[in-house]
Amino acid sequence: MATGKADRIVLGNVITLDDAVPRAEAVAIRAGRVLAAGKREAMLALKGGETRVDDFGSATVIPGFNDTHAHSDSQGLKTIRPSLAEVRSVEDVLKRISELAKAQAPGTWIATMPVGEPPFYFDSAQKLTEGRLPTREELDKAAPNHPVYIAAPGGYWGVPPCTCVLNTAALSANGITRDSQPAWPNITIHRDASGEPNGQITEKAYVTLTEQDLLPAVPRFTYAERLEGVRRALPLYHARGTTSIYEGHGMGPEAIACFRELHETGELTMRSALVISPTWASAAEAEPIMRDYLVYARGNGTGDDMLRIAGVFIAYGGDKVIREVMQRDVTDVGFSGFVKSVNAPDEFEALCELAGRYDLRMNTIVSDKLHEIVPILERVAKKYPIGKRRWVLEHVSRSTPSDLERVRKLGVAVTLIPPHYVWKVAGPFMSMTDEELDYLSPARALHEMGVDVSAGTDAVPNDPLFCLWVMTTRRERTTGRIIGKNGRIDNELGLRLLTTAGAYLTFEENVKGPLRPGYYADMAVLSGDPIAAKGDDILNIRCEATMVGGRWVYGEKAAGQA
Ligand SMILES: [Zn+2]
Repeated sequence: MATGKADRIVLGNVITLDDAVPRAEAVAIRAGRVLAAGKREAMLALKGGETRVDDFGSATVIPGFNDTHAHSDSQGLKTIRPSLAEVRSVEDVLKRISELAKAQAPGTWIATMPVGEPPFYFDSAQKLTEGRLPTREELDKAAPNHPVYIAAPGGYWGVPPCTCVLNTAALSANGITRDSQPAWPNITIHRDASGEPNGQITEKAYVTLTEQDLLPAVPRFTYAERLEGVRRALPLYHARGTTSIYEGHGMGPEAIACFRELHETGELTMRSALVISPTWASAAEAEPIMRDYLVYARGNGTGDDMLRIAGVFIAYGGDKVIREVMQRDVTDVGFSGFVKSVNAPDEFEALCELAGRYDLRMNTIVSDKLHEIVPILERVAKKYPIGKRRWVLEHVSRSTPSDLERVRKLGVAVTLIPPHYVWKVAGPFMSMTDEELDYLSPARALHEMGVDVSAGTDAVPNDPLFCLWVMTTRRERTTGRIIGKNGRIDNELGLRLLTTAGAYLTFEENVKGPLRPGYYADMAVLSGDPIAAKGDDILNIRCEATMVGGRWVYGEKAAGQA
């Protein structure tokens, strides 16, 4: 039994996810860690003169969410530029642009967020009264003395094709004429009847390259803006009950520097694990760069309980044009925060060999290429203990039982993004049989096989409770169809994949996860019980408060705490 007094006691319907005491009425906290969880009277017996008691009544207290594929910085950056979320017509767009023009010095850029409702901006042009976006000429009238750029949502947020719009000044600042041709074949420059660009540029790929390929003059995020984006991302994620993030898609040097700066200034309230997004152009260039990473990213990397930098992202496959365009300026990472990289299978293998040799934990995006990646990793595993070093396979979509069995044997970790593959863009997989769909984003199969699997939101949206709903119902967005009914998991397992499971990725499973004595006092207070909730009721649960290391970081209590 715990001895000594608690700093804080939290009362509520507590789900600890600690098998020793699965349900409790209170959690006692001391020095940022759980002191004990148990019956109300037993915990209140730990109350001393200085102890603060927060009573949440019938609300449910759970371990904080560990979003293992968060893309948090990109969500913060969404708040930096002027929003067009309120516009309902082309007329509204033009009015807003003209207001922005009045507020800015002539000649300065007006660069806005996409038309439509964040976070997805689905069908934004079709939803305007006119059923279309504005043209170059219309924007010219609204802002005759400014270059204007209305961004496209792009495939990371919306669903392609996605269209951006520029006025005449913006087109000419970027050198776009009737003869311009994009390098990336997925981009179309739309033209009017006379063959002149009409200001609209559409991209039909999920990887967005319009700015890097065609729009060098559009202002990029400055370091200060990116820093502000990361700063603003923290409360956006805490408001969803998230207390830890794992950024396995990689982060460019500037984005990592932003997290470091916030940690230095004491503003970093999210336990953040960051993976390096490399800037090399080829496997030959990679070797000395990887060796340099040894300074801080080898093994479990560098950091503390709030910020950790470890390992490297290595892309598998992709179109070589992406690399050509990105290599024009690898610092130009845009909203994504990571360098879009491409490696042919042999390059990927060579890079994995290097990562094995330098013990840089490799993270890669699998998508539907598991059957190609597994044999490569099996060869690498003959030389290096990639399972023990906890290499990470991410974004797994289509899979088969035999591939998953090979993943199990490799011993690597897997992070899944069910909201992306099951809810948002299941379309490409809809022709698969029901049995095959059970293995799309295969949370259940991986768990049953004993693979270290966890789930992340992919910011689709950044709400782990939505991800829980997707994993338990597997409903597709446009048709409501159940995507592989035997792939569904129960609420408790879903909650585990979103809370306790992610600690494995950072070698923290002995200090982070369940509300167990000695573990971090990271928790979320929810309006409803996510294990008892049936079906769609999960969607009605809201986060009321969030605590990291014994301090409230979201909710009313956060404002009033000592
Ligand atoms: Zn991702």
